[in-house]
Amino acid sequence: MLAAHVLARHLETVTVVERDVLPDGPEQRKGLPQARHVHVLWSGGARVVEDLLPGTADRLLAAGARRIGFHEDLVTLTSHGWQHRFPPRQFAIMCGRPLLDFVVRDRILAGGRITVRGRTEAVELAGDAGRVTGVRVRGLEDGTRELLEADLVVDATGRGSRLRHWLTALGLPPVEEDVVDAGIAYATRTFRAPEGATAGFPAVNVAADHRVRVPGRFGVVYPQENGRWMVTLSCTRGGELPTRDEDFLPYARSLRDPLVADLIADAEPLTPVFASHIGANRRLYPERLEGWPDGLLVVGDSLAAFNPIYGHGMSSAARTAAVLDERLARPLEPGGARRVQAAIGAVVDDPWIMAASKDIDFVGCRNRAGDPRLTGERAALHGFADLVASMAIRSPEVSDVVTDVMSMSTPQSELGSTRFMSLMQRGRLRPELTAPPLRPDELALVRLDRRGAVSAP
Ligand SMILES: Cc1cc2nc3c(=O)[nH]c(=O)nc-3n(C[C@H](O)[C@H](O)[C@H](O)COP(=O)(O)OP(=O)(O)OC[C@H]3O[C@@H](n4cnc5c(N)ncnc54)[C@H](O)[C@@H]3O)c2cc1C
Repeated sequence: MLAAHVLARHLETVTVVERDVLPDGPEQRKGLPQARHVHVLWSGGARVVEDLLPGTADRLLAAGARRIGFHEDLVTLTSHGWQHRFPPRQFAIMCGRPLLDFVVRDRILAGGRITVRGRTEAVELAGDAGRVTGVRVRGLEDGTRELLEADLVVDATGRGSRLRHWLTALGLPPVEEDVVDAGIAYATRTFRAPEGATAGFPAVNVAADHRVRVPGRFGVVYPQENGRWMVTLSCTRGGELPTRDEDFLPYARSLRDPLVADLIADAEPLTPVFASHIGANRRLYPERLEGWPDGLLVVGDSLAAFNPIYGHGMSSAARTAAVLDERLARPLEPGGARRVQAAIGAVVDDPWIMAASKDIDFVGCRNRAGDPRLTGERAALHGFADLVASMAIRSPEVSDVVTDVMSMSTPQSELGSTRFMSLMQRGRLRPELTAPPLRPDELALVRLDRRGAVSAP
């Protein structure tokens, strides 16, 4: 939708080809199975969306989304221990994905410059190896096939994109692809939160420790609109995801801390468990193809999709749309699509390497990536990453920079800067936390008063 929005700023007519009928409200739909699981929009991405579509954050908050300040409003057990709740530096917007999509879509389509062809599937590209001239589509109601001619085709079909196949059908060589697959699986259930908890209790995150050579298990409790908690339990390959309702709570208890289980033990479930096995890191390198055809670009998950645990997919997709906006301000010359595509590809590099370089350490991770940063001797890098992680949970200065990077507000290269190195040397460390930093009033709100409370500094 963001890509369509920016195209409509620069081109005469824009047609969105979509398999689903896009709902007239915040509802689930078949083409977006991931919407049944938690989705956080990091501040780096929220700012991009705000630039493209001013007022979106306010509309989301008015519709019940929560703005979570990092780390004040999040209680998180990282691989290296409990994170101190330092004053917020960045934020994330938490709400159901259907609400997020609806707020964005409603505003974009209200402009009236975009036509949506619902229940229509893109089946192949038209044109030849030098120039894409349109898309062949199929109506899902009656099976009719049709050619939609276009000056520019943008593939935004998501993680399941058939682009590589479509390009070879035009006679082009296969686009290079990297895949790092830790076997991520998600199981999600929505609960009624205790009165006042979605506004007054922090978001909770219990992560695995990738240094322990067993499959990783994770769990989060995130506030949503309408007084709900969305609870997602996840694992890396071999982690035995709970797919039945009765297995959900015992799995939550098996995490490195029982906080998630304690929170949901007496909460009323509002949905069954939804499970998905989608979460490999996958990136295409279209810019490396010598003869990239004119008239074609690729954005969002079609270009690069990541392990969702890091919450970077939507922000990255928004950034690819923003680059499209910038580049289409000038007319596309012959041969220009490849340069625009290279600029789009550059902005997915940070989320790609952050996710892939972390996932590669999980047991059972399958690596089919040629990225030289993921091969060879990585012991020194591990040592540095572990040092940063262990300091970020206890030093506000180090935490600020790490949070800037994680929220996609600052380039990852900042972690290698002299400024950061000197912060690491000077960083004042708070005492190690041995329990979740929850205040007595917060514990009382969720009726866990008897759990040992550690006052947040
Ligand atoms: C379990 C899970 C949890 C996630 N959590 C987060 C999170 O917390 N934060 C975050 O930022 N990101 C998260 N993500 C990633 C996020 O969902 C994606 O990055 C984002 O949806 C990408 O947007 P997109 O528009 O590129 O693709 P999608 O949102 O997948 O949209 C693709 C669209 O194309 C349509 N389509 C597909 N094929 C065709 C076709 N052939 N013809 C016509 N239409 C077609 C589909 O119906 C769909 O509407 C998560 C992903 C998963 C799997």
